[in-house]
Amino acid sequence: MEKLLLIPGPSPVHPRIIRAVSEPTVSHVGQEMAADLSEALKNLSKIVFCEKGEPFIIAGAGTLSMEIALLNTAARGDRILVLSQGYFGDRMGQICESFGLSCDIVRSRWGSAVRAEELAAKITENKYDVVVVTHVDTGTGACAPVKEYGEVLRDRGVLYIVDGVCATGGIEERMDDWGIDVVLTAAQKCFGAPPGLAIDVFSERAVAKRKSLPAVPAYYSDILRWMPIMHDPFKYFSTPCVNEVRGFCEATRIVMEEGIEARFARHKKTAEAFRAALSGLGFTFFTEKEFLAETLSVVNYPAGVEDKAFRSTYSANGVVVAGGLGETAGKLFRMGHMGNLSSAQIVFALDALERTLSTLRYRFERGSAVQAAKSVLG
Ligand code: PMP
Repeated sequence: MEKLLLIPGPSPVHPRIIRAVSEPTVSHVGQEMAADLSEALKNLSKIVFCEKGEPFIIAGAGTLSMEIALLNTAARGDRILVLSQGYFGDRMGQICESFGLSCDIVRSRWGSAVRAEELAAKITENKYDVVVVTHVDTGTGACAPVKEYGEVLRDRGVLYIVDGVCATGGIEERMDDWGIDVVLTAAQKCFGAPPGLAIDVFSERAVAKRKSLPAVPAYYSDILRWMPIMHDPFKYFSTPCVNEVRGFCEATRIVMEEGIEARFARHKKTAEAFRAALSGLGFTFFTEKEFLAETLSVVNYPAGVEDKAFRSTYSANGVVVAGGLGETAGKLFRMGHMGNLSSAQIVFALDALERTLSTLRYRFERGSAVQAAKSVLG
């Protein structure tokens, strides 16, 4: 039985994208690939509202897109500030360390995010060259106030990098308006394509910073090696993953057809539907209300529901969710609701949840979760 993948990425891959990926492989420097890559890059820039920047689509994954963002904008001796609300912010700190870049990390409690006022205080205290933030931390479900951070950083001469791996294409990110210099992301979450791509969009200012650096500690991750290919995909630097690029191109077409604003609104509604259903069943949320992300829910179990039994029974009923990361392992589950999830899939997931809870002899009113979601979805 094919299972509905509701982990916080990879998200379910739309049949149109599967079809695109499974077409025969073509030349990486031929007409078809050039057309797909160019269209995907154009759509990508629109999705992050970046008119004049430089988008990059490179074989890899989200972690590579983090490295690309960092290595091309920060030099040794630069001061980097990382705002971390959990697992992936901390990873950014580890990447800095691996490359001998010095960084300060400001951490929030898990389940919340660093407030804009804390950022303002920190940048008044010290001079920073680069500030890196995670939009949505996939471990904690906390969404950071990236627009407010942008207001704090405006005109301060600081490059502003946003990790949008769990947000881009599902939650608003307006690079030009909010003063974001790099959005880094991946294909497998809100775009709903299979994993395999590192995606970065650089502002003109971020590209200028790279050009001002005599060298960077990278070869494959150096954007100056990739820029000629992004401008003219008939050129060669390193073989792109042709099928994946075609799949991602199709994913961006789906976004454009749906409409970017409509897609953001749908993600919001989908989150509300799941949360109404889960709250009605007696589940609570790990993430503080103010910081709840629209792309995933991190859910505490009610008394009487045990992690392992819950997730294995839910999987047997056709839905795969993820366990907690780090100190939250065994205490909660994480459910992704991003990408191209349809209303029918949401209803299926909640009906399977009810069947799961019945098997586990948890007491609740049968049909209530599906009903709660349907009344939100309309
Ligand atoms: N940043 C965030 C916010 C993520 O959620 C993830 C992956 N879950 C990553 C970075 C790393 O991406 P990848 O696993 O594709 O390397």
